[in-house]
Amino acid sequence: METSKSEINKQLWREELRKSAKNSQRVKRERVIMPEQAPIERASNNKEVNLGLNIEQAVAEAFRCLDCLDPTCIKGCPVNVDIPKFIKHIEARQFMAAAKTIKETNSLPAVCGRVCPQEIQCELNCFYTQKLKKPAVAIGYLERFAADYERESDEKINPQINVSNGIKMAIVGSGPAGLAAAGDLIKHGYDVTVFEALHEIGGVLKYGIPDFRLPNTVVDFEIDNLRKMGVLFETNFLVGKTSDFDTLRDEGYKAFFISSGAGLPNFMNIPGENSTGVFSANEYLTRVNLMGAASPHSDTPVLFGHNVAVIGGGNTAMDSVRTAKRLGAKRAMIIYRRSIDEMPARIEEIHHAQMEGIEFMCLHNPIEYLTDENGRVNRMKVQKMKLEKPDESGRRRPVAIEGSEFIIDVDMVIVSIGVSPNPLIAKVLPSLKITARETIIVNPETMQTSIPDIFAGGDIVRGGATVILAMGDGRLAAAGMHKYAEKYGLNSK
Ligand code: FAD
Ligand code: SF4
Repeated sequence: METSKSEINKQLWREELRKSAKNSQRVKRERVIMPEQAPIERASNNKEVNLGLNIEQAVAEAFRCLDCLDPTCIKGCPVNVDIPKFIKHIEARQFMAAAKTIKETNSLPAVCGRVCPQEIQCELNCFYTQKLKKPAVAIGYLERFAADYERESDEKINPQINVSNGIKMAIVGSGPAGLAAAGDLIKHGYDVTVFEALHEIGGVLKYGIPDFRLPNTVVDFEIDNLRKMGVLFETNFLVGKTSDFDTLRDEGYKAFFISSGAGLPNFMNIPGENSTGVFSANEYLTRVNLMGAASPHSDTPVLFGHNVAVIGGGNTAMDSVRTAKRLGAKRAMIIYRRSIDEMPARIEEIHHAQMEGIEFMCLHNPIEYLTDENGRVNRMKVQKMKLEKPDESGRRRPVAIEGSEFIIDVDMVIVSIGVSPNPLIAKVLPSLKITARETIIVNPETMQTSIPDIFAGGDIVRGGATVILAMGDGRLAAAGMHKYAEKYGLNSK
């Protein structure tokens, strides 16, 4: 018997009523709190600070999602993860299905669940934040939960192995941009080789972000998946020195993706910056994270400071100062020329640093480093700052207060005021169009550069940005390279 129109309307109305009753229960729930190591304990170890949600916490948090008709959270995600779908899987305790849903568009979910600035992306766009003025659904925590569940369980989502079409594609740099591009290109059937200058794969995920935020085992699991899919990795291979683009073309590579990041540290060029004990954050973190320099028994141990000043207010500065604290600094401080409200670091990282006893000297700027008779930094001159109207970056402009200089004792300084691209690639490719900041110019839809078979993305295009934006670029470039291969009928010859 056919159901009448009015009966259908009644059913829909009853369904709406049921949904809104359930939704009122959902919105009453408080957002889950991430379990973490106690500040006093974690400030002297390198284990992960955030411990991850357990099953019951994850299911309860997933229940808060309202399954909106227009899920605005997805629009906040640069790689368009189907957020409501994976969250509903968690609510239904289908954890592997949740991980699978995320992996359809994000090849590094355990990484993104840990380091994405969700508070300015998906969670900022959540209905709770936008309309209810309540804490967003903890999308990042749930993403991490699903990815960790897969990694720690006996079941695994088997990576898709594709039949090779024999066409060789090269990727320069193995950070998140390169890894995301490699994952998509191999799915299209290309033979993908990632060339990496360092001895480890992962870019900043390995050499920059410390284990207490992103354990290397998590990154290695994701890299292993790419290996199983057939991606080849060549380490200790500096494109532009070990081999150049023409030689690689001769070896059969048909297109390139440059994802070499922005690893050249910026300095302030103030007196005393070349003294012993003044590091760039890149050097300090790379030596500690990748070269075993945290051990006094290593061949080249890093300096261990008692009074450590880190200059800057970004994620790199927070990672450096918290690392110095873990390596024994009695006084570890951030010196930042704007106020805490303008800091570019993630709110969670600032909060964690404060809880671990890091001092914040905001509205201060170093103007000179002074040394002992051996040339090692032992004091620094700082100047107080005040904020004026916003500058072109949209943030309030810091201005020095004349006559406010004073001296503080330091025995180590880590400069973390931004990065620029390494000029090597631009030097070996003179026809490559670059900006005044030496970032590569691309067509934003395809990531193609001024040289047709060369694509680029991530920090080498954006300057210092984020993991997920680098991954988004990698995916766009893979699509662009695929179209390029189809358009020119590239083959394996
Ligand atoms: P990278 O990750 O820099 O990788 C580039 C790789 O290319 C490197 O491994 C390099 O060795 C290699 N390479 C360079 N030149 C060559 C060459 N000629 N030949 C072969 N290989 C080459 N973002 C977030 O979203 N959240 C965070 O919490 C966060 N924290 C950060 C903490 C630190 C300490 C740092 C430094 C950055 C942080 N970022 C964070 C930013 C984020 O990590 C970067 O935006 C992202 O890694 C850029 O990815 P990429 O693939 O473009 O480059
Ligand atoms: Fe949010 Fe990042 Fe996950 Fe996208 S990848 S849903 S932005 S946490």
